[in-house]
Amino acid sequence: MAKFFIFLLLASSLFGARVETFRWDNGETYLSFLEKNNLPLKTLYYNLDEDERQLSEEILTGVHCKATYNQDKSIAQAFIPLNDELQIHIYKHNDEYFFETIPIISETKTEAFIIKIENSPYLDILRETGSKKLAKIFVSGFQNSLNFKRDLKKGDTLAMIYEQKYRLGKPFSMPTLKASMIEMNGKKNYIYLNSDERYYNQEGSELQGFFLANPVKSARISSTFTKRRFHPILKKYRAHLGVDYAASRGTPILAAGDGRVVFLGTTRGYGNLTKVQHSDGYLTLYAHQNSFRKGVNNGSSVKKGQVIGYVGSTGLSTGPHLHFGLYKDGQAIDPLRVVQVATKKISAKEKAAFLKLKSNYDESINLHVTNDTKFIRTSMPENVCYFFEEENSVQNRLDSNS
Ligand SMILES: [Zn+2]
Repeated sequence: MAKFFIFLLLASSLFGARVETFRWDNGETYLSFLEKNNLPLKTLYYNLDEDERQLSEEILTGVHCKATYNQDKSIAQAFIPLNDELQIHIYKHNDEYFFETIPIISETKTEAFIIKIENSPYLDILRETGSKKLAKIFVSGFQNSLNFKRDLKKGDTLAMIYEQKYRLGKPFSMPTLKASMIEMNGKKNYIYLNSDERYYNQEGSELQGFFLANPVKSARISSTFTKRRFHPILKKYRAHLGVDYAASRGTPILAAGDGRVVFLGTTRGYGNLTKVQHSDGYLTLYAHQNSFRKGVNNGSSVKKGQVIGYVGSTGLSTGPHLHFGLYKDGQAIDPLRVVQVATKKISAKEKAAFLKLKSNYDESINLHVTNDTKFIRTSMPENVCYFFEEENSVQNRLDSNS
């Protein structure tokens, strides 16, 4: 059975090494990382199964990784996040390297603060919290409905309630905006994250105007999105950061929205791959293509529904299908939650639940405004690392060998 234990990463710890943090370089691939660190490509890449090799292409530029080193400067352990729930763990034991994917244990906290406007919501949140991420999620929530430049005055109030994940005592991953309010010209404007994971204003109208079209017509979904799933037979953690549409070879692939091609080329895992950048931080990914549409190149502008390529089975793929990925601000999200959702207004059926959620948040925001809640930077001791381990894990192997 799975169990929790605490792992002390101190000088006196199991591995007798200091933990170093590094960021994943722009342009670094998992293979180039292994090569750079003289790690064995065969055990840590070529011997992995298809899913694991494909997943290794999901490492994001700038992500915070951790490593400990042996005395000869070789890597003893490395932790490389794949998303906010799963990470690659490479470790050396008895002169041999091992690869596994393990959950990232994080703690989620609900936080809130009130700010009086001095300059602009973005600059004021950044100044108060030091977080560009918080500034960004606040502004992007209101950007389609309010005009801060025109209507906002010094001294107006804004409120934010959000969830922040912490890993190793530090804020980790994109915060999730739960509710926010900005008072302009004496009028309070609200945003709420509803249980359908979409944002609505106080009238129950949806705020994000981003809708994707299906990237292939009349295709069967052969695999859905998951950030982390334990495979009971393989006894491994898995993630599938997209949706697979099974379709015959040559079926046209359509751009899911208006945007610009930011990557077009061939990768090991995803084969012929196109990435399209859309507005509001959304990016779509189309993998395993048989071929690209002539005339669609890196940098091309594409329109929603335009053919950009054809279904195939290139890269690590067992049959013709489109692997379709959707990312918001760099984080993989479930495309099926965004594709062709017709709701723009809360339905009569869902109204009661929404009004209850709204009144809870309103009460909470009012309380924070009354108390003038200030932003507090949470931090926890850095040298404790929480791992979640399965049988056959490194700790159990070490235990059984000792
Ligand atoms: Zn897939």
